[in-house]
Amino acid sequence: MATVHARSRKCFLCGKETLFREVGKVEESGARDLDTRPAGEFRETMPLWIQKCPECGYVAARIDDAAQIGKEFLSSERFVSCDGIAFTSELARSFYRLYLIKLEGGDVKNAFWSVLEAAWASDDDGNADAADACRKAALEQLDLLIGQNAEDENLRVLKLDVLRRCGMFDEVGAFYKTLNLTDPVLKRIASFEVIQADAKNAKRRTLDDLKTTPRTR
Ligand SMILES: [Zn+2]
Repeated sequence: MATVHARSRKCFLCGKETLFREVGKVEESGARDLDTRPAGEFRETMPLWIQKCPECGYVAARIDDAAQIGKEFLSSERFVSCDGIAFTSELARSFYRLYLIKLEGGDVKNAFWSVLEAAWASDDDGNADAADACRKAALEQLDLLIGQNAEDENLRVLKLDVLRRCGMFDEVGAFYKTLNLTDPVLKRIASFEVIQADAKNAKRRTLDDLKTTPRTR
């Protein structure tokens, strides 16, 4: 069982003190999705990965985390409207706002992961349009990250999954051809992604799905 405890924290931007539920220890179980989204009870804890100040609307992994933005950013058009994306999940909206904060602060890595988490929350909410918009935004950050980490094969294989989940099947095949991977597990994942893309399958796939699919490529 995941351990959850309550903890009071003070908002970095406005000083309002709020009691939050936080995850202590959580066991990793089951096969992760190919975009690294955890399974099992770790997956269930996602609403506790982000905190929102009820007073000013600041969002952070921990509300007392130093902000890379000023308070005025919280009332900016972009932050308020979430770039016009019609989110129907408050959790997805919060992750998207965290993405905007990280983007504004020039933190590419956390911008990428936050907007991918906004996609996951939108998947759970059944909002395919919002999930798609988030993954397209994630791709922009992922390209920057790949540019900064040219040797990181994980990031490049992750891009195949984000492209496929957006339905960008041709792009999966084209990007795959540029890869030259050395890690055998990543090679296997990458070729699986291409097989799925060739079949025009944009659905979630896990590491377990790899084991049950014949090696045809
Ligand atoms: Zn606040």
